[in-house]
Amino acid sequence: MKIQFFLVPFLLLCNSLKAAVDTVSFYVGLEKAAAHVFEIKMTVPMETPNAILDLGIPAWTPGYYQVLDFGKQVSDFRATDDKGRALQWQKTTQNSWRVAVDSAATVHVYYKIKADKSFVANPYMDTSRAFIRPTGVFMYLIGKLENPVIVSIAENKFWPHIATGLPRLSENSLLADNFDVLYDSPMLLGTLKELPSFRVGGKEHRFLGYGMKDFDGAALMRDLKSIVQIVTAIFDDIPYEDYTFIGLGEGNGGIEQLNSTAIAFTGEGMDERSSRLRTLSFIAHEYFHHYNVKRIRPLELGPFDYSGVNRTDGLWLSEGLTVYYEGILLSRSGLITSEEFWYKWEQIIANYEMNPGRKKQSLAESSLCTWEDGPFGRRGETISYYEKGPIIGMLLDMTIRSATSNMKSLDDVMCALYKVYYKEKQRGVTSKEVQLLCEEIAGVKLDEIFSYLYNTNDIDYPKYFSKIGVCFERSVGSDGSIKVNLRPIEDNTVVQQKIWKSLSGRTM
Ligand SMILES: [Zn+2]
Repeated sequence: MKIQFFLVPFLLLCNSLKAAVDTVSFYVGLEKAAAHVFEIKMTVPMETPNAILDLGIPAWTPGYYQVLDFGKQVSDFRATDDKGRALQWQKTTQNSWRVAVDSAATVHVYYKIKADKSFVANPYMDTSRAFIRPTGVFMYLIGKLENPVIVSIAENKFWPHIATGLPRLSENSLLADNFDVLYDSPMLLGTLKELPSFRVGGKEHRFLGYGMKDFDGAALMRDLKSIVQIVTAIFDDIPYEDYTFIGLGEGNGGIEQLNSTAIAFTGEGMDERSSRLRTLSFIAHEYFHHYNVKRIRPLELGPFDYSGVNRTDGLWLSEGLTVYYEGILLSRSGLITSEEFWYKWEQIIANYEMNPGRKKQSLAESSLCTWEDGPFGRRGETISYYEKGPIIGMLLDMTIRSATSNMKSLDDVMCALYKVYYKEKQRGVTSKEVQLLCEEIAGVKLDEIFSYLYNTNDIDYPKYFSKIGVCFERSVGSDGSIKVNLRPIEDNTVVQQKIWKSLSGRTM
């Protein structure tokens, strides 16, 4: 593992005064790996004598918008003072505990976490590796997320590596500036394989994984470098010091973080084109998220409420447009052909059109209801923002390009959202503000496209595709399946040809 020596003195200096007062420490015991149990010791310095200490464990994990109630996995909770005397405590909700501190200057809290479900949103441990999804492992001080945190992990000679985006104090000790950073920084422990790293904009990008098969890792990293270059060029800024791709082995799904992503990945199928492109599309999606959702975000998606949920109607922006950019990034990187690019659009539209849920639930509602229905909805009854969201991206990009003779695109919107709302205003954005920004860049009103967020009307595809000189054809097979065909019309204008090429032909 790389040790980021250059960061340590600075961070230690910054935290040296605070550390004695309010740094919360965790020790992670790994002895019970075979039973899938983490043994946690949490040490909390008390600033106020005779106080009550309220602790919570998150109800959800950022990036996965469904209630998980990690409190269900906690057992054997107890608390002591410095001399080992037991302190009284009670469980106050599914995910919170109250400790009567008495006059203790420091409180030690012990608990266990059952981690037997291998999934990217959950912690998991067996005898081969441990995945620490911090929201499911570490308790927080209710009302005090700003405290710095040190995590020390038990040594395990069979698990020499830790993959994480956090800086280190020593080989097995990590520092997070506060609980939001801690919860944003998963850790994978085990015997990990590392692929050759690359640099973009002077920043190192690494890929470490568990259970990786034999495949051409150098080729994967070349492709990822190309994707990172394309993405960072859109925003003209790289907001992290380094970035880590964390491969979790077999499974499904990935979750984005500020300077890392944790993804189910083994490298299997990388020598077969369609499987390889699916994987690259998936990783490009997670990487794009570090701009779009970790930094550009719906207003309600921050600060995080770990005890409840951050309900928003804006996941069309965070997830929908990120799905839209998958095809754009692969096309611009030269990884897919023009035919593959348009085929992906045809599939996205056909998949949405075949879901009866599209007449029952709006895109905004699918975002608001994700906490109960899950991010993929109940197909037939509901839609998912993964389905309709990218279609909104298509309509916006086509319209902006058409209205500006291909001088502007959705890229300009994304870049402006990043600069205005993340960097300048330092807050999230509403859907109305996104509309105003899109209209300012396009120079035309976009009421109909934005009305599709809130209604279940049929989308007028032919009208929008005709703007870029594309004929939209929809047919229904004998089995009820819907087929979509997109092809350029023969007498399209020079501008329309340019837009067609810009979208799928790698020229901007
Ligand atoms: Zn996503």
